[in-house]
Amino acid sequence: MSSIKTTSILGTPIEFLKGVGPKKADLLKTELQIFTYRDLLEHYPFRYIDKSQFHRISEIQSDELPVQVKGKFKSLKEVGVGNKKRLNALFEDETGEIELAWFKGVQWVRNGLNYEEEFVVYGKPKRFKNTWSISHPEVTKVNEAKLKLTPFKPVYRSTEKCNRTGLNSQGIESIVINLLQLLRHQIPETLPSEILEKYKLPSKEEASIHVHRPRALALLQRSLTRLKLEELLFLQLILVSNKVKVTTKMKGVTFKKVGKLFTEFYENGIPFDLTGAQKRVLKEVRHDVRYGAHMNRLIQGDVGSGKTIVALLTALLGIDNNYQVCLMAPTEILAIQHFEGISELLKNFPITVKLLTGSTPKSKRKVIHEELASGALQFLIGTHALLEPVVMFKNLGLAIIDEQHRFGVKQRARLWGKAEITPHVLVMTATPIPRTLAMTLYGDLDVSTIDELPPGRKPITTVHKTDSSRLHVFGFMEEEIKKGRQVYVVYPLIEESESELLSELKDLYDGHEALEKRFPRPEYQISIVHGRQKSSDKEYEMNRFIKKETQILVATTVIEVGVNVPNASVMVIENAERFGLSQLHQLRGRVGRGAEQSHCILITGKLKSPESKRRIQTMCSTNDGFEIAQVDLEIRGPGDIMGTQQSGALDLKIADLAVDQKILAKARELAVNILNDDEALAKPKHASLNLELQRLKAFKPNWGNIS
Ligand code: ADP
Ligand code: MG
Repeated sequence: MSSIKTTSILGTPIEFLKGVGPKKADLLKTELQIFTYRDLLEHYPFRYIDKSQFHRISEIQSDELPVQVKGKFKSLKEVGVGNKKRLNALFEDETGEIELAWFKGVQWVRNGLNYEEEFVVYGKPKRFKNTWSISHPEVTKVNEAKLKLTPFKPVYRSTEKCNRTGLNSQGIESIVINLLQLLRHQIPETLPSEILEKYKLPSKEEASIHVHRPRALALLQRSLTRLKLEELLFLQLILVSNKVKVTTKMKGVTFKKVGKLFTEFYENGIPFDLTGAQKRVLKEVRHDVRYGAHMNRLIQGDVGSGKTIVALLTALLGIDNNYQVCLMAPTEILAIQHFEGISELLKNFPITVKLLTGSTPKSKRKVIHEELASGALQFLIGTHALLEPVVMFKNLGLAIIDEQHRFGVKQRARLWGKAEITPHVLVMTATPIPRTLAMTLYGDLDVSTIDELPPGRKPITTVHKTDSSRLHVFGFMEEEIKKGRQVYVVYPLIEESESELLSELKDLYDGHEALEKRFPRPEYQISIVHGRQKSSDKEYEMNRFIKKETQILVATTVIEVGVNVPNASVMVIENAERFGLSQLHQLRGRVGRGAEQSHCILITGKLKSPESKRRIQTMCSTNDGFEIAQVDLEIRGPGDIMGTQQSGALDLKIADLAVDQKILAKARELAVNILNDDEALAKPKHASLNLELQRLKAFKPNWGNIS
């Protein structure tokens, strides 16, 4: 009974709340997407200031965070008149002085201050000549401050516009206080008591109150954990139940036998021994495809870990069982390379392999379409061109997608639609993501990890150079080329706007010109490849490099994924500060593929932002893709890493996938256990879970589509 009543009060439009007039209501809606009481309740503080700690004035060091100091006023001076009137003050503790200034409400502020009593001053310090100063600090009398129940002051996200209308952090705090008074005993529990007891978690009501009005650190922490766990648990319940539907309810094709092609290739066709990790992943894949359940598996493995061969072996299993197979790559260069590499490996096998990309001529295309329909074509490799509706298979049994992060969920689903029974799906990505995050973002995918590089690879050395030492870099390139090696020089081409594109292309061509001067023909040959070229030119230039006709390849990030030229041993990245970490790691992965010692040289201007410093430092200190992925996650946040689709879709209110991975793993485990025990959430003990889940499904339709 009470739950019906509470649902309705949480759904109350925000303009009904005390302290929220029509103007503020409008801003809350348009600026902060707060429409109801519930939205405000879930507008959690994004951090807290510990008000129980005081800084000594002499020890203030940085202007990055606000400080809190305790002391007395030494001087209070009103200067100027009318609009220009301001209040300047000197404030001191036993260690030093700080300047305070007010430009607004001067009279009112002045009236509250005096020389006799002790005050607490709080605000963001700025260095001005040799002293620190704070504009518009918060000032409270010490005895009042002592009375305050909240040593941890919540800080709320707000916007410029809201700030101007009194809805700064403080303003939001005060309407939240009004709300909490109204909601006493009206916030329904959403978790089963079993879970609350087992993990000693506060109730929903208690937790909601404490995150907004924290009284003690331990309780605040438990409240945060509870709300994060709850949020992630519901997300996982949706993801896990989707996955159960896909893998157990959806019939898959069965690759029953391990046939001749597979066995023959496994024994005689692979030019090296598989690593232990490759064998393990292959086993996982074979287990999936053998029993008639639908496979939906992600293989993640660092650049160069050898994912292709695992995919190829899986393809052979499919072809052995009379199914067609396709492999889709995100760029034409990569598709061509896969086609050539795989054709070469399969040259002694009776398998028809063809390439289909945007630039395949019409006549050839027509033949491919016919052969696909008749079943004569067994293995099709290509780009997005595979997704076009005219491309229809006779019996597609396996779709392999390379470099998943370049493709969206919808595109994957389009491949599924190309067969009567959904084909098995094998996705490969070289953007390693922490396992727990993978579970969330690819909720319906099983994840296999190739966590071992083929033997004999020497770790790539990475150094950072500034623009001014480019001549040294050229010298180093020359030495390597004299040893018979090849060199990549990469420029960013981000193409965010037409004017940016032009200036970036100019950088690329200027760079090319400088290199041609330093490395003149005919002794040296240089290829140039970028995304705006005709694909025939691209292919021609790329091939010259692959065939060692050119020693240097000047390129944009089109070469980022997958390209494999083992003789190339130097990767020079220009304007490296403009690349993201995972891009840098991908680019670096283009070298270190042969037996030679390889080098990566990151060239930047003077590094300004702490993020770009951290990125470059990380690159110089580790080759481990997982470590890099973790740093990337911390710098950019998970949404960015996964690209546009997932970022908005998750819309988490309190959990942070970059830092809450332990809680996430726990949520996953709980979700699996709960659904194993009671798939429909029909048991009485799961009533509250079920109710909340239904509500969330209605409000967060996107959670059902993540994969
Ligand atoms: P990625 O996982 O980045 O796609 P690839 O599949 O392109 O990596 O493999 C990178 C290189 O390593 C290729 O030249 C491939 O032939 C080679 N390779 C793959 N597995 C092994 C192995 N077990 N031993 C030696 N070389 C291997
Ligand atoms: Mg690859």
